[in-house]
Amino acid sequence: MKANAGVCEPAAEPQSKFDFRLVRCRTDNYAVLFHDPESGETALVDAPEFGPVDAALQEAGWTLTHVLITHHHADHVAANEELKAKYGATIIGPEKNRGQIPGLDRGVKDGDKITFGGDVIDVLAVPGHTLGHVAYYMCNSKVVFTGDTLFSLGCGRIFEGDAETMWHSLDMLRHLPEDTLMYCGHEYTLNNGEFALTVEPRNKDLQRRVEEVRWLLREGRPTIPVSIGQEKKTNPFLRPDSAEIRDVLDMHGVENWRVFGALRERKDHF
Ligand code: ZN
Ligand code: FE
Repeated sequence: MKANAGVCEPAAEPQSKFDFRLVRCRTDNYAVLFHDPESGETALVDAPEFGPVDAALQEAGWTLTHVLITHHHADHVAANEELKAKYGATIIGPEKNRGQIPGLDRGVKDGDKITFGGDVIDVLAVPGHTLGHVAYYMCNSKVVFTGDTLFSLGCGRIFEGDAETMWHSLDMLRHLPEDTLMYCGHEYTLNNGEFALTVEPRNKDLQRRVEEVRWLLREGRPTIPVSIGQEKKTNPFLRPDSAEIRDVLDMHGVENWRVFGALRERKDHF
């Protein structure tokens, strides 16, 4: 685990309660808005589409001040320019991908801290899906935004990194406090769960989670946020040390990252 992850520095206003709202965009993207009633600041994590984000802001009566970008893919940055033009928000994202993130005002890297409403947002590098990918972690609010690195019951495809790099990113995330709530970039949970059951069919927590996910989706509800503790019990990509997964893959006595890599490859063809 990296030195800065999980280290909760006392904020000016500990336990500050922000109002979090999930915004569905495009076909299966999620953006998240959060608002500090005291300072009046409002942040958005990822900007997949202008319309739904703008509508959610108007409904809540919030003015956007911060846009936090997890990675440079088009389905996460598409609305940057329009949101900046309308609200004058500051666009923050990985410095490594400055050229690919429209309107970027502040480039960030691992270990950087962003001040928001008297609280602090930690920037964690999580390379693998893209090399510049970052997660945003708020230890006082017990929330982490993982973009396309960690999904509920799954993880992002490895586009720019390799399996070992991606595994180190996921391993760092799985060491965050278990009661941390994870928000991710896509609603892929059911498909991920169906895959997970093929590699760990006897995992009772996983069976229960997939049932819950089917029910939530039938009700038209999102399957996130979900706690890191719950993901550690159910997400195969956080469980390369599981005896059942290693049996199914017939991979014993090898490093976790190799089992993780084999799982990711299987999922690519699922
Ligand atoms: Zn992506
Ligand atoms: Fe994406």
